[in-house]
Amino acid sequence: MKVLVVGGGLLGITTAWFLNEHGADVTVIEEGLEVGADTSFANGGMLHASQASPWNEPGVILKALRMIGREDSPLLIRPNALFRMLPWALAFFRNSSPELFMKNLGKNTRLADYSLSVMNEHLGALNLNFEDSHKGILKIYETKDEVRSASKIASRGNTDNIPYEVLDSDKVVQLEPALGDVKHRIEGGIYFPNDMSGNAYLFCKELSARCASRGVRFIYDCRINGVNIEQKTFHSLETDNERYHGDACVVAAGSYSPNLLKTAGLKVPVQPVKGYSITIPTPGGVISPRIPVIDEHYHSAICPLGDHLRVAGTAEFSGFNKELNPRRIENLFELIRKVYPRIFDYMDKEKIKKWSGFRPMTPDGVGVMGATNIKGLYINTGHGHLGWTMAPGAGKFVADVVVDEDPEINMEDYSLERF
Ligand SMILES: Cc1cc2nc3c(=O)[nH]c(=O)nc-3n(C[C@H](O)[C@H](O)[C@H](O)COP(=O)(O)OP(=O)(O)OC[C@H]3O[C@@H](n4cnc5c(N)ncnc54)[C@H](O)[C@@H]3O)c2cc1C
Repeated sequence: MKVLVVGGGLLGITTAWFLNEHGADVTVIEEGLEVGADTSFANGGMLHASQASPWNEPGVILKALRMIGREDSPLLIRPNALFRMLPWALAFFRNSSPELFMKNLGKNTRLADYSLSVMNEHLGALNLNFEDSHKGILKIYETKDEVRSASKIASRGNTDNIPYEVLDSDKVVQLEPALGDVKHRIEGGIYFPNDMSGNAYLFCKELSARCASRGVRFIYDCRINGVNIEQKTFHSLETDNERYHGDACVVAAGSYSPNLLKTAGLKVPVQPVKGYSITIPTPGGVISPRIPVIDEHYHSAICPLGDHLRVAGTAEFSGFNKELNPRRIENLFELIRKVYPRIFDYMDKEKIKKWSGFRPMTPDGVGVMGATNIKGLYINTGHGHLGWTMAPGAGKFVADVVVDEDPEINMEDYSLERF
């Protein structure tokens, strides 16, 4: 079976790997000059089944309205972007009812939990070198209320077998001594020992090299302009001057998937949600952080990756605008100052790398993957802020569906049909 995969990001490459394992003849077509160079390049680095909540938690409407146009808020909504994406935004808010939120959280937690098991059991044996760490993730809180409501959500996750431990501030600092300087403002924390972290770009490079060594073909610098359909069946992919034929095609083009799938007559409700990261060489002369920390009070995530620290956060609804807004970058510097003030003082600002990418986000916060109503045409996108967490599981899931094997999780939960 000849399968074309559009997109060489996390979702495209994991799909290609498992298709190859199933014996398919796979070609990955990527617009860029290498794999992992778009949204999968410098993300937060965390694979967290513990943090699989969609962003539209109950109460998000009021929060979002308060943040419209505010450059210093974790969520920035530009009024002109809001107008353009109105139907998506209405569906996003509709999904913030307590019932739908819990339902979608359940779907994400199941996929994330499955994904981590695929990462450990299937991909772990490959010994890929991607600065991975298996020390868990720590979340810290400033108020008793924050700890209480987070414990409630964690206990919900616990029913899905996600273990966790609630810690007081002493135990938090025992676990992550680098937090000692801010102990006075930490009320408590929750530790999720099964979560992991790693450098997504290195993972893409390493896994694609393994794919190539097993016969997967990679075509770079090749933009697909259209998906050709004949008699409700996938026919070919179209570039400016070429056509690629296959028995099946998986579109894993991240936030760009809707535009491409529109050419096949499919409507895919995925919006680009811009996020930023900075990558800092860990300075000498300070206690180096050892595990990823999410500071829920300041909506920040700080993840050690090799001899660097990755600080990621902020969400911006502003269309496909990759510009690095200095105010948003400044927010990330502010986050590092609040969590690791000593690192802030000692870090070499000249060597910091700044980056932005587009999270492909659906209005219910759940990825969209599997078959479409066009025979031979499949999709794997929309995993939003959880794409790194979901990639191993989603890749295996879609590969199973393409070769007509029963996937290990429920197909309907993630299908395009639900919209
Ligand atoms: C700031 C930030 C922090 C994040 N932190 C985390 C985190 O800690 N944990 C987590 O789980 N997730 C995180 N994410 C989300 C995660 O990074 C994304 O969900 C994931 O990278 C999406 O991967 P993808 O393969 O779908 O898309 P991409 O990586 O964007 O790959 C799609 C590829 O398709 C190619 N392409 C597009 N159109 C075409 C075309 N027409 N023809 C050919 N090729 C095409 C592109 O060039 C691109 O390489 C974060 C995201 C951001 C922005």
